[in-house]
Amino acid sequence: MKKLNRRDFLKISGGSLVAGTSAIGIPNLALGANKKVIVIGGGAGGATAAKYIRMADSGIDVTLIEANKEHYTCFMSNEVLGGGRKIETIRHGYDGLKKHGINVVHSKATGVDAESKTVTTADGDTFNYDRLVVSPGIDFKWGAIEGYDQAAAEKMPHAWKAGPQTALLRKQLEDMDDGGVVIIAPPANPFRCPPGPYERTCQVAHYLKNNKPKSKILVIDAKDKFSKQGLFTQGWKARYDGMIDWLPAADTGGGIVSVDPDNMTVATDFDEYKAAVVNFIPPQKAGKIAHTAGLTDESGWCPVDLGTFESKLQKDIYVIGDASIAKGMPKSGYAANSQAKVCVAAILASFNGHDMADPSYVNTCYSLVAPDYGISVAAVYRLAEDRSEIKKVAGGLTPSDASADALQREVLYAYSWYDNMVADMFA
Ligand SMILES: Cc1cc2nc3c(=O)[nH]c(=O)nc-3n(C[C@H](O)[C@H](O)[C@H](O)COP(=O)(O)OP(=O)(O)OC[C@H]3O[C@@H](n4cnc5c(N)ncnc54)[C@H](O)[C@@H]3O)c2cc1C
Repeated sequence: MKKLNRRDFLKISGGSLVAGTSAIGIPNLALGANKKVIVIGGGAGGATAAKYIRMADSGIDVTLIEANKEHYTCFMSNEVLGGGRKIETIRHGYDGLKKHGINVVHSKATGVDAESKTVTTADGDTFNYDRLVVSPGIDFKWGAIEGYDQAAAEKMPHAWKAGPQTALLRKQLEDMDDGGVVIIAPPANPFRCPPGPYERTCQVAHYLKNNKPKSKILVIDAKDKFSKQGLFTQGWKARYDGMIDWLPAADTGGGIVSVDPDNMTVATDFDEYKAAVVNFIPPQKAGKIAHTAGLTDESGWCPVDLGTFESKLQKDIYVIGDASIAKGMPKSGYAANSQAKVCVAAILASFNGHDMADPSYVNTCYSLVAPDYGISVAAVYRLAEDRSEIKKVAGGLTPSDASADALQREVLYAYSWYDNMVADMFA
């Protein structure tokens, strides 16, 4: 995250501090009286943005429009599939944000009018804004793969938005017979959480190894390589040897081309595969409201100024998180959280008529191979001088010769990261 020091903050806020200092060290200003910010989406990006605007300037009127009363984080949802965690532990409410003085509206945002600067909701309400932050996450390209539509997802769950889909996939794993095949089908890039399908493979393997040891996992990938590949394949061999087969796109002619949920089969150009459980993760695009609001380009994602996250297509609207094209950063919760803080600093700067400080950004992705075996990739980024990308300037990966102690410590770091992350979003 870009930690604003006092000098940075004075630079963007004009130096006229009128109130005290907040708990996080960001000065608590009251310069934005009568300014209105609406945030659409109360997940990793939106919850963070709403909270940090209020913490930075309690004079700003912040409304968070979130479709659901509770948010299930995708992070740690794979551990629910593995049986190491109950689904209740990834469920979070919005009372903490209300305590920051945020007006939380539980409804679906259905329209944005960039001219009149209004957002309408499914309940028929209209809200005015001076600045709008859009962080709706992803939607699926239903029908991009023959046979995979919303009805198919009830039989072949994607579980790529956490909640009921996670519970459904877990139940299918519990119900299957020992000796069955589980197919996991990761999509082509770009998609939410690049290491996610491979962590999921580990967690499903962990469950099967302890409960249905004759079962197998077949990963039919739409790609030829994937995030943290060396570390994952090392982990698969160390803990689940003989249980996991990974088929790169090159071996299947490009991955799955059609699914048949009634017969529990999937087909590539070359073969048909039958399974007891199919976790099909479909191709993705920005959340629907981003399309409705005219924020997406032909890629299906939202082009933004990488130093502020203001949309390149609509003025005074900012897009953060998975929906944005944050060139250089992965689509992750931590990235969304980091982008939210950059976006908040940019909004405050724009309200106060000052230049935005040069931002930096951060991301770490932990993956749980087994209950005592974690791996991670971390990076710190800065904006490229020509603003064309978010450039990694430092980083690290779990070493391939990490000791058992070090791998165990990564699990503790992952849990600690999760607790800090959800506190940063919701408390
Ligand atoms: C299995 C899995 C594991 C993952 N593990 C990690 C991990 O370990 N670390 C990590 O950093 N990231 C992880 N991620 C990725 C992470 O979950 C996402 O990158 C992150 O949630 C993106 O944040 P966001 O704000 O863009 O979207 P989200 O967090 O999905 O939030 C979007 C919110 O917007 C709401 N919404 C959407 N449209 C509307 C609308 N029209 N009106 C009102 N509300 C709306 C939704 O209800 C939702 O609450 C994982 C993802 C998956 C699938």
